[in-house]
Amino acid sequence: MMFSYRQALEAVIGKLQAIARTPATESIPLSEAVFRVLARDILSDRDYPPFDRSIRDGYAVRSADTRPGASLRCIGELKAGDSPSIAVTPGACMQIMTGAALPEGADAVIMIEHTSRERDTVHLDRAVKPGQHVVRRGSEQAAGQTVLSAGTRIGFAEIAAAAQVGAANPVVTRKPRIAILSTGDEVVDFASTPGPFQIRNSNSVSLAAQVGLTGGEPVVLGNARDSLDDLRAKITAGLEADALILSGGVSMGKYDLVEPVLSEFAAEVIFDAVAIRPGKPVVFALCKGKPVFGLPGNPVSTMVTFDLFVRPAIDILSGTEPRPLPFIEATLTASLSEKAGLTHFLPAKLTWRSDKAHVSSVPWQGSGDVVAMAHANCLLVVPADRETIEAGEHVHVLPRDF
Ligand code: AMP
Ligand code: MG
Repeated sequence: MMFSYRQALEAVIGKLQAIARTPATESIPLSEAVFRVLARDILSDRDYPPFDRSIRDGYAVRSADTRPGASLRCIGELKAGDSPSIAVTPGACMQIMTGAALPEGADAVIMIEHTSRERDTVHLDRAVKPGQHVVRRGSEQAAGQTVLSAGTRIGFAEIAAAAQVGAANPVVTRKPRIAILSTGDEVVDFASTPGPFQIRNSNSVSLAAQVGLTGGEPVVLGNARDSLDDLRAKITAGLEADALILSGGVSMGKYDLVEPVLSEFAAEVIFDAVAIRPGKPVVFALCKGKPVFGLPGNPVSTMVTFDLFVRPAIDILSGTEPRPLPFIEATLTASLSEKAGLTHFLPAKLTWRSDKAHVSSVPWQGSGDVVAMAHANCLLVVPADRETIEAGEHVHVLPRDF
């Protein structure tokens, strides 16, 4: 039976969750922690804000003293970082800057724009409510509260939250090591000059980039020839890593030898075909306890099947939840027809006009057309039950962020 891409995705997630062990951890400098996954909760070291904080430039006041036309006596000034040493008594106020601590006695801030001043007398043009323009001590986080939970993937906002509470060396999971093995007698190193019928290896380097962007540690093993011996040896080496990605050698050709070698190794093949295009012959297996992905060799197939099936596996091996596919909805600008029965993921261009997403497929020569993919910025999804989609209809797209 051929899986739909959703069934295949669920199978990958289910298997990975079943076999994944708690990842090893390490403590690293916060400045290097972007993309990593927290292995321990980060707690707030103190209340945040640590004091009642003014969020406007103005005057710290007793709100009960404020009304349109009221006058208050200014008894001092507080800037961010100052420690307030005197209290605001009835009829008094203190000039206060954004980020400064509210003095004793005051319970609100009136914005400078709503006042006028003659020497030490401040005239108000309105009343303020208790607590106005003040963020109370501990209202963002109380001391000891969890700021970021174990399992969180660290982005720039998480870096700031960790920095605020002084988590200078967070404990994170080790990046899973993902072996990458390309296959094919015709494949040569991309830095070399190919013979007339040879092909430069683009998959190893694009897969390494995708692995890195997903938070894994790529281990590039080079290229295996289409021979049982070479595949046996290199797959054996690849199984030392936390997961193995192969490219090529999974179609129906006489020299597509990845599956024969996996079956020699008594691998459990979970699927070896998915109802998608590009990427239909994609293989997912467990071999000697390790997840193995046999991605079709055509470069666009390799990229698409990585995004659909390998990314969630790397998330799980990293100790975090598999991120959902980031579908967005867009209006199709030109009608298209594709063979029914397969979900198509077509290289396409997403544009924004008047805040609305529009998408059109880019011309391409099929799954070998890697330049078309480079000119695209998303994959346009044509559902398996649709043969034709008209211009103006809504479709799902998967944007590519890099
Ligand atoms: P395969 O999946 O092995 O049948 O390969 C399908 C197509 O993808 C063939 O035209 C290959 O030459 C091409 N191909 C396979 N591996 C790579 C690679 N590593 N880099 C670029 N193209 C490749
Ligand atoms: Mg091949």
